[in-house]
Amino acid sequence: MTRSHSIAVLPGDGIGPEVVACALDVLDAAEQRFGFTTERSELAAGANHYLATGELFDAVEPLLRDEDAILFGSMGDPRVTPGILERGFILEMRQRFQQAANVRPVRLYPGVPTPIAGLTPERCEMVIVRENTEGAYVGRGSTVHAGTPHAVAMQESLNTRAGIERVVDFSFRLALGRRRRLTLCHKTNILVAAGQLWQQVVADVGERYPEVEVDYVHVDAMCFHLPLTPERFDVVVTDNLFGDIITDLGAVIQGGLGVATSANLNLDGSAPSMFEAIHGSAPDIAGSGRANPAGAILSLALMLGHLGEGDAARAVEAATVEVLGGLPALAGEEMGLSTSQIGSRIAEIVREGRADTALVPDSLLGVLASLEPSRL
Ligand code: NAD
Repeated sequence: MTRSHSIAVLPGDGIGPEVVACALDVLDAAEQRFGFTTERSELAAGANHYLATGELFDAVEPLLRDEDAILFGSMGDPRVTPGILERGFILEMRQRFQQAANVRPVRLYPGVPTPIAGLTPERCEMVIVRENTEGAYVGRGSTVHAGTPHAVAMQESLNTRAGIERVVDFSFRLALGRRRRLTLCHKTNILVAAGQLWQQVVADVGERYPEVEVDYVHVDAMCFHLPLTPERFDVVVTDNLFGDIITDLGAVIQGGLGVATSANLNLDGSAPSMFEAIHGSAPDIAGSGRANPAGAILSLALMLGHLGEGDAARAVEAATVEVLGGLPALAGEEMGLSTSQIGSRIAEIVREGRADTALVPDSLLGVLASLEPSRL
C-alpha cells in the first residue's frame, strides 16, 4: 500500500509563499522518486489574512490539529503591529500544540561560505535544542506607572520541571545517536533559581544516559565558543530566550538566514509538529526572486524525516547541499539564480535520483533518525 501523509501548508507572508512553493516542488519530486503521497491542505494565515478577517491561531487550530505535520513559511508585515502575529499565532501554536523542542541543526555544509575564517564542515556539526514553550516567552508580566518617569516593568520567566525534563530527555536521546556529548547552556551564576532547576534536571536525566558526556557553558561564553570552537558542541540544550539568541549566531556561522532551518517538535504525539526556515518574511526582497529557498527546503527534509521518509529526507538534503555549494553567493542577485530556479534545480536532482547522499555526513541525518516517530 502506498504510504500517505496528511500535511498542512501555511505559506504566510512576504517571501514565505515563494520559498514554500519551492519546497512543494521538491516534495512533488520526492513523492515521485520515493513512492509515497501527501494530502496537502493549504491554509491562509498571516498578515493579509489577519488584516482582512482579524483571525489568528484560534481560527486554524481545529483545522491543523489532526494533520501529520505542518510546513510553515513565515509571518510578519510592517502593516501589522509587532507582536500581534508573533504572540497571537506563532507562540500560540507552539504552546497549544506543545511543540516543546525547537530543533536547529547548525552544520556548515561543504562549499557553503562562512564568515568564520578557517572554519571547515568537519568542525561545525551540532544541533541546538531550545525549550520552546516556557521561560520568558510565556508572556507573563506587568507594567506599573506606565508612561511616567516611575514606570516599572516586570517580565516573568516560567521554568517547570516537567517542561525542562521533556526537552532535556529528548536532547540526551539525540546525543545518543550522535557524538554522545550534551552541553547545557544557561546563566546559572546569575539566574540562580531557574539555573539550579535546569542543572538539577540535566543531572537527574543524565543518570539514565551514562554514555553521554555532559558539559556546561554560560550563555555569554557561548557567544565566543560557538564561532571559535564549534567542534566542542554536539547537542546543546538551552532555555527559550537563550536559544532564540544563540541559534541566530549558529545560523550566521553556517552561512546565514538562507540556509538555516528548524523543527518545532511536539514530543508526545498529542498535536502536529511544525517545520520552517528560520528567516522571517523579508518584506525588503519579497516578490523579487532574490530569496534563497534552501532553509525552507531543508525544513521539508526535516519534516520528511519526522514522517518516517528517511530516504527522501536524505536525498532532499543532499540535493540542496549540491545546489547551494554551486552558488556564488547565498542571497540576493549575486546568487546567480532566482528563488524558483534554485527550487527547480533541487527538485530535478531529487526526481532524477542524482542526489549524492555522501555529501551530507551525519548532522541532519542524525537529527532525522532521532525524529522518527517511533523513537519519540
Ligand atoms: P527577516 O529574516 O525577514 O530578514 C532579515 C534580512 O535577511 C533581510 O534583509 C532579508 O532580505 C534577508 N533574508 C531573510 N531571509 C532570506 C532568504 N531566504 N534569502 C535571502 N535573504 C533573506 O527578518 P526581519 O527583517 O527582522 O523580519 C521581517 C518580518 O518577519 C518581521 O515582521 C518579523 O516579525 C518577521 N519574522 C517572522 C518569523 C517567522 O515567521 N518565524 C521569523 C523572524 C521574523
